[in-house]
Amino acid sequence: MNKIEHIGIAVRDLAEARQTFSRFLGQEPYKEETVESEGVTTLFYQVGEVKIELLAATRSDSAIARFIEKRGEGIHHIAFGTSDVEGESERLRQQGFVILNDRAKAGADNMLINFLHPKGLHGVLAELCQEKN
Ligand code: ZN
Repeated sequence: MNKIEHIGIAVRDLAEARQTFSRFLGQEPYKEETVESEGVTTLFYQVGEVKIELLAATRSDSAIARFIEKRGEGIHHIAFGTSDVEGESERLRQQGFVILNDRAKAGADNMLINFLHPKGLHGVLAELCQEKN
């Protein structure tokens, strides 16, 4: 891992959150993208080196919908950038961490992603992400 790539924030209403975060950050998001397989629509802001990803559910059985139901809106995950998501996942498995998917999958913003189970990381859901080239 070589950087914090983005911070993911779960929101109930994407249009309302867009207004709030655009006013807060003084800029508009550079991208909106729906990832059908995850049941989520995302908005991205670039804040210096790090991005802010707003996540809203597109259906009631998506992970984001379940997260908000249980814990309310707020920080959902921290994404760590790596140049080799499979290699890093394997290293972490050997360290005893639980990686959620056998193989990295396509995420928003042109990334290959995988996740660490938050139970093994003091309640933090960590995303590993590698830019697709
Ligand atoms: Zn993310």
